[in-house]
Amino acid sequence: MRSLPLTPSRPVTAASDGRPALPPQHLADLDLGQRQTLLAGLGQPAYRAKQISTHYFGRLTRDPQAMTDLPAAVRAGVAERLLPTLLTPVREDACDSGATRKALWRLHDGALVESVLMGYPDRVTVCVSSQAGCGMACPFCATGQAGLTRNLSTAEIIDQVVHLAGVAAAGGVTGSPPRLSHVVFMGMGEPLANYGRVIAAVRRLCAPPPEGLGLSQRHVTVSTVGLVPAMRRLAGEDLSVTLALSLHAPDDDLRDELVPVNQRWKVAEVLDAAWEYADRTGRRVSIEYAMIRDVNDQPWRADLLGRLLAGRMAHVNLIPLNPTPGSRWDASPKPIEREFVRRLRTAGVAVTVRDTRGREIDGACGQLVAAETAS
Ligand code: SAH
Repeated sequence: MRSLPLTPSRPVTAASDGRPALPPQHLADLDLGQRQTLLAGLGQPAYRAKQISTHYFGRLTRDPQAMTDLPAAVRAGVAERLLPTLLTPVREDACDSGATRKALWRLHDGALVESVLMGYPDRVTVCVSSQAGCGMACPFCATGQAGLTRNLSTAEIIDQVVHLAGVAAAGGVTGSPPRLSHVVFMGMGEPLANYGRVIAAVRRLCAPPPEGLGLSQRHVTVSTVGLVPAMRRLAGEDLSVTLALSLHAPDDDLRDELVPVNQRWKVAEVLDAAWEYADRTGRRVSIEYAMIRDVNDQPWRADLLGRLLAGRMAHVNLIPLNPTPGSRWDASPKPIEREFVRRLRTAGVAVTVRDTRGREIDGACGQLVAAETAS
């Protein structure tokens, strides 16, 4: 049996846009065919690709040393070449009586990202980051204040999911099934600004094992500020993932402030792109709306939102604002929220109010890394 030569991983090259470099290449960056080709190039039989992929995606084993059916020398080579450490845990916290777990990771270049594992009676959801930081500058979002550090690689996105799926499988989420079922791209970053890597991650999360994690496309949600060309491109991908649009205001005056990318693509354009997505995929679009006291929670804005969405394939997800440290904004009072819901329902629009998981561990909406960097 030949062992894998200890060749260095893909050299870390400077990104062409001058941003910090991506990490070394990892198994999860490649589809199954590419893994086979790579291993063949290292003198390994093709079945090794399936064997190692089954460990990673099927058994959620991330440590090559635990892959005991591989010869020891192969394990060492695999560790070097295919399973480099991408995420080093900095902190893991639990709250909501063990139903929510938050992980803070340090990446190979020191950048910090967060992921959250949320258990419900019928499902387990992971909220992943797609970028370190974010360039969209929404003033109510902690991540938006810090700016963009860099895009995550496909494998850095997948490894967050595989790690937390392993925590769930080991019984780490109280009162929930052990199998991860849902992934939402609602952690740090703007997923559609890291388009190619995010789409590759979605495809791999949904590919059947051992190629990928075998999730249902319908159980994956990609959330965007509304990058219209990327939304239209996503509509043509032949994927049935749920699209979430962070609208937060029904009028351009306010949305220009709350979601600055609105200065480029207006409410009417972004909703048009959302309806195209709904038409082409048959999937109802989720309209995200953070309820901010005296800012976007007036009855007339509920009525305007209702008129924009009535009769459309849409569902509104109201998010009580999670106030960021030092922010001038607060969540809407409950009676105001109830009136907003009532008016939307009267207009015939489906509405839910999102639960506020992870608040006491700063796990909600970009708070975590802000807390870590401040301490
Ligand atoms: N960039 C993507 C995904 C990241 S955040 C997007 O904007 O859609 C996921 C959701 O959390 C978005 O709807 C975002 O606007 C919202 N969010 C961010 N900060 C928040 C806060 N402090 N309180 C409530 N929701 C927040």
